[in-house]
Amino acid sequence: MLGQMQDWPLLIHKIIDCAALQHPRQEVVSRLVEGPIVRATYAQVRARALKVAQRLARDGIKPGDRVATLAWNNQRHLEAWYGVAGLGAICHTVNPRLFPEQIVWIMNHAEDRIALVDLTFVPLLEAIAPKLPTIERYVVLTDAANMPPTKLKNAISYEEWIGDVDGDFRWPSFDENTAAGLCYTSGTTGNPKGVLYSHRSNVLHSLFTSGLEVMAIGPSSTVLPVVPMFHANSWGIAFTAPMKGAKLVMPGGKLDGASIYELLETEQVSFSAAVPTVWMMLLAYMRKESKTLSSLKCVVIGGSACPPAIIKAFEDDYGVEVRHAWGMTEMSPLGSVCSIKPTTPIKTREDALEVKNKQGWPPFGVEMKIVDDEDKPLPWDGVRFGRLKVAGAAVAKRYFKEERDCVDASGFFDTGDVATVDENGYMHITDRAKDVIKSGGEWISSIDIENLAVGHPDVAEAAVIGIRHPKWDERPLLIVVPKEGKQPTAPDVLGFLEGRIAKWWMPDDMQTVSEIPHTATGKINKLKLREAFKDYRLPTA
Ligand code: AMP
Repeated sequence: MLGQMQDWPLLIHKIIDCAALQHPRQEVVSRLVEGPIVRATYAQVRARALKVAQRLARDGIKPGDRVATLAWNNQRHLEAWYGVAGLGAICHTVNPRLFPEQIVWIMNHAEDRIALVDLTFVPLLEAIAPKLPTIERYVVLTDAANMPPTKLKNAISYEEWIGDVDGDFRWPSFDENTAAGLCYTSGTTGNPKGVLYSHRSNVLHSLFTSGLEVMAIGPSSTVLPVVPMFHANSWGIAFTAPMKGAKLVMPGGKLDGASIYELLETEQVSFSAAVPTVWMMLLAYMRKESKTLSSLKCVVIGGSACPPAIIKAFEDDYGVEVRHAWGMTEMSPLGSVCSIKPTTPIKTREDALEVKNKQGWPPFGVEMKIVDDEDKPLPWDGVRFGRLKVAGAAVAKRYFKEERDCVDASGFFDTGDVATVDENGYMHITDRAKDVIKSGGEWISSIDIENLAVGHPDVAEAAVIGIRHPKWDERPLLIVVPKEGKQPTAPDVLGFLEGRIAKWWMPDDMQTVSEIPHTATGKINKLKLREAFKDYRLPTA
């Protein structure tokens, strides 16, 4: 027997409708590429999003068509999101930090028809436009006064483009499983893969992740997503904040310590989310300028492993709670967040910090397991590492235009990460499966060693890779970037690690470099590092 409740499709535009109706005066504050900080209300954002949909329809965009954005977090980008998806078309958020050739590949694969572009990225698109035959028009996210001279096809400023319609438009209604957004994974090997979000998956992801135990976003929150809308939906925050009636502060392209600090203080931000490097820049700035934080209560840190030193600095020096999080583009993206369950046996501050270093536990809506090489579930003992597999209402089932599903027979997606889960259910990422170091048949976690090494006062950044070894198969090599003006030696840093990690995890050597390569999403590019050190021989070999 079926239930007899209403069929109320979970559609993204219902979020902005609700925000405009219930929180019409709540603000969206943005730092524009043009310079100024501007303010709008949810009522205004909704009205302008309707104009985007109306104008797209007039330009011939149909449900299912892809509309690309290359833009920072700002009000116009937000309006475009709701306008594109609200029409039933698909908002393809392109990561402008990818190599131009990858952007060309992605936009052609997506067959984008219109591109909405921040001023910053006009030169980038001018360089690749001849290779983008499917784009019919470029809309520059600015007004007529700031419109640059450009030869981009049918280029028009956003304000003129939406100024041409009256906004008298009704959102169409459709199946909640309709595609709403497209985001490609950066993939260090092979071609990028497109993750095709649905209205339902995005709405559910925001419902799952807004709760007290995850991001704790409500009408009295002021939320600053530093995580870009072009990287996995700004962790859903551009949906979650309006859904919950929170004030939204959009930082644009200025992500340095001073600029983020300015917004945190002038807008009295209570919650923010970013990758560790952004927080490192902010902490460095605050220390140098002897600044304090007057409103920030909680930050979520994820995207790559958060060094314990950052967690400690935020909590002990600035009184800001840190929640370490893990996720991926394929998961919309949040998979787990480390908020402390009251039943966790914690006696000391050290116990608490040990738990906080872990990536936490999945909110309702995400299932998680760790398995061995035979796909058998491993015990939750905090010791055994295994491949991390996930399932859930906002987890990808198949990549865009692929013919086969990307989940196993039981419906679980292999994340490619390796993790432990402890007896209290806290998950801890130890590596990417392809980066794990196999020494004498046992696995060594490169992330754990890296996290400890950056705790050394002279080390700015650290990476650990496996180097071939005749006896042990592979042994770890520690690669560090020294802090400015410092020259840490191998005995210094390795001595610092002693007693903090198992003896057989100890790197066989250390090398210093001026820079560690990163991917377009800010992760250490181990593939490139291994390539750079392919001729290196360990002293123990
Ligand atoms: P992306 O799809 O670009 O967001 O990348 C997802 C990948 O980033 C995951 O599969 C992890 O390897 C890594 N990642 C994300 N968050 C964390 C974290 N807190 N600690 C360690 N790795 C992380």
